[in-house]
Amino acid sequence: MFKTTVVGSYPVVKKEKLNFLDKVKKIFGVYDEYKYSIEVAVKDQISAGIDIISDGQVRGDMVEIFTKNLFGFQDKIVVNKIEFVKPITLKDLLFAKKLAKSLKNNVEVKGIITGPCTIAYSVRDEFYSNKEELIIDLAKALRKEVESLVKHTPIIQIDEPILSTGMVDFDIAKRAIEIITKDLNVEISMHVCGSVHKIIEELNEFNVNILDHEFASNRKNLEILERINKKIGFGCVNTKSKKVESPEEIRDLIEEGLEILKNNKNIKDLKSSILIDPDCGLRLLGREIAYNKLKNMVKAVNLISL
Ligand SMILES: [Zn+2]
Repeated sequence: MFKTTVVGSYPVVKKEKLNFLDKVKKIFGVYDEYKYSIEVAVKDQISAGIDIISDGQVRGDMVEIFTKNLFGFQDKIVVNKIEFVKPITLKDLLFAKKLAKSLKNNVEVKGIITGPCTIAYSVRDEFYSNKEELIIDLAKALRKEVESLVKHTPIIQIDEPILSTGMVDFDIAKRAIEIITKDLNVEISMHVCGSVHKIIEELNEFNVNILDHEFASNRKNLEILERINKKIGFGCVNTKSKKVESPEEIRDLIEEGLEILKNNKNIKDLKSSILIDPDCGLRLLGREIAYNKLKNMVKAVNLISL
């Protein structure tokens, strides 16, 4: 059946009671409180039955993780030429992967980066003379981050939610994504939440294999399924609502999408063209809600017969 995945972020759960070793580590300043958060995210995703999981992106919001670790930023202000220093998300990906493999055989952990346009539009720029230069330098730095990940994962996701706002020049965005994705031997997915039905022709031109969008909280987006020319990341669980959808409800939405896709001449084989996931990250939901949403999503997929 269809493979399932997540967009990336998971509620951050911290350990309530530190054990002796944790306390010693804390004294020496080497205690990493987020390791436990990654463990929770990995275990929950696997227990829910997700095929391609994430490390939970627990270390901060999607922009912060990168601005903190790229050269050129002071908090979220650009004060110098942006440069890559050292791998940012690799350590967590490897930790999640090791843990995942110890729990289940056929599970993959995807690499996730925040896109250059989304970072560029979320920071204050006091260095570059225009957005284009900032975006291109961010893309070059993120390319190095991606190069550090590709040996360890079969799928890289680029989060570019800013593209649905109409603020970004698509030619610059396309060039930036091309810098990051050129000649890589992995699947590349681009996640853009928000309304995309008016920009699907633009998105079709990006150098990525999968376009990942929200359909549960945005039914109008279903229209793109007639015209999309890539694989689809089908967001079918509302991540803005705390209500846990029933498996049947989620199944109905997926089936609605499948009906439209059957008329899409670009899609040769339905089964391998769709990845099922939630609309967006789960970070802001409580752990129990996030977990149950994933569990019901997997149940929904199992209710579908092609
Ligand atoms: Zn999103």
